[in-house]
Amino acid sequence: MNVKTRFPPSPTGFLHVGSLRTALYNYLFAKKHGGTFIVRVEDTDRERLVEGAVESLIRTLKTVGISYDEGPILVGDKLSEKGGNGPYTQSQRLPIYKEHAQKLVEQGSAYYCFCSKERLEELRNQQQIAKLQTKYDRHCLKLDAQEISRRLAAGESHVIRLQIPDGETTFQDEIRGSITISNSEIDDQVLMKADGFPTYHLAVVVDDHLMGVTHIIRGEEWISSVPKHVILYKAFRFPMPSFAHLPLILNPDKSKLSKRQGDVAVEDYLEKGYLPEALVNFVALLGFNPTGDREIYTIDELIEAFDLTKVNKSGAVFDRTKLDWMNGQYIRSIDSKRLFELAQPCFGDASTLPDEQKKKILGVEKERLVTLKELEERAKMYLALPEYPATDLVWKKADAQDATLHLTNLLKLVESTEPAVFDRRELIEEAIKKYIGDNGYQNGNVLWPLRVALSGQTQSSGPFDLLWVLGAHEGIQRITIAIDKLTS
Ligand code: GLU
Ligand code: ZN
Repeated sequence: MNVKTRFPPSPTGFLHVGSLRTALYNYLFAKKHGGTFIVRVEDTDRERLVEGAVESLIRTLKTVGISYDEGPILVGDKLSEKGGNGPYTQSQRLPIYKEHAQKLVEQGSAYYCFCSKERLEELRNQQQIAKLQTKYDRHCLKLDAQEISRRLAAGESHVIRLQIPDGETTFQDEIRGSITISNSEIDDQVLMKADGFPTYHLAVVVDDHLMGVTHIIRGEEWISSVPKHVILYKAFRFPMPSFAHLPLILNPDKSKLSKRQGDVAVEDYLEKGYLPEALVNFVALLGFNPTGDREIYTIDELIEAFDLTKVNKSGAVFDRTKLDWMNGQYIRSIDSKRLFELAQPCFGDASTLPDEQKKKILGVEKERLVTLKELEERAKMYLALPEYPATDLVWKKADAQDATLHLTNLLKLVESTEPAVFDRRELIEEAIKKYIGDNGYQNGNVLWPLRVALSGQTQSSGPFDLLWVLGAHEGIQRITIAIDKLTS
């Protein structure tokens, strides 16, 4: 079978981390089986549309490295499409839905409903008061053909409803197994709305069929819609696809993952300096782990290992601490060229420094970074020495005189050293360690004041790294400032 999966977001703003996982699993599954992965825009809920959301979604998928074979793309700033089964935006497919809904009416699987909002509201209220299931009462199912024609011809506002058959509906979920529900619990779902737009239920079934989707992989929140979809597939005599519903994503306290944008928008995580590779790796493990004892996987390893039947049924906790840890792992292990490219927007004031120096800063600072955004703060001191008190220069087991002595000696050492030595970190280290060793000094007496002199901070990278990044000229200036502070 030719596997085809899809990611059909509604363009309502940002990309939720849960949607990233859905997109990713569909991508992994398609790749694993040599299949096709498509993206479709589900914009039939006109009230929830957000300007620019489709473009931003396409960009975000690209940034995180999830590619698709068919669907909307950007050519420059302009929306376009690739693949031959389009259009891939539902609002451009209205005649298709209309035709399909009418076919159902003709064959007696769906019917026109002219009920007013007020009548439906009243019905609902009464059912609630009587503690009955709230459900459409099939008032319009009794209308005869003549009356329907007359009212349609008069342009009366109407919807088309699916007539749910008696009996029960069973389907297989790849993750959850067999699920059966009594049809009496299902409402006569509206398929076409009064505004001429289809509802989600009609559009999703028609499109998944016409676009050849074989596997529907999505969040658990959609599982209650499946019986309606199964009834629609049967009414249309479409072959049934496979269904797989992914576990909920939870906060550490097991509540459903918060909806606050700052906590769940992929764009915000990228903005905060999380690496696309780390986010994808982290999100992939929300509900699935190929081996159980390892956390770091490349995308190719994930494709290789992906198995729907191994996805957990129970909720997956979104653990920020683990994401932070993973991001740090990626920052330290990823190719330095790629890291520099990703870090470019994060240098803040220091972005004016030459690239060569910024690369050195990144090389040194990455050892301690949780996110790339932290570079902004950390890089400042390479650009300008921060203000600091003379007392910071004094190591806890020494005094100001001792600090002055070493800084004066180190100044001479740096001044008399070949400039080329400063291109190689290990040579700087060698020269300073020789000074310590030859004289039998303690590391702290020498390295503490040097480090504070170079960074202006009591917590910073080591002095050899600092001297290497700053270079001889700036190093000499900073050591001189320190000696002045101690002796004035
Ligand atoms: N448009 C739906 C959403 O916003 C898609 C649900 C589905 O995958 O069927 O997530
Ligand atoms: Zn009605």
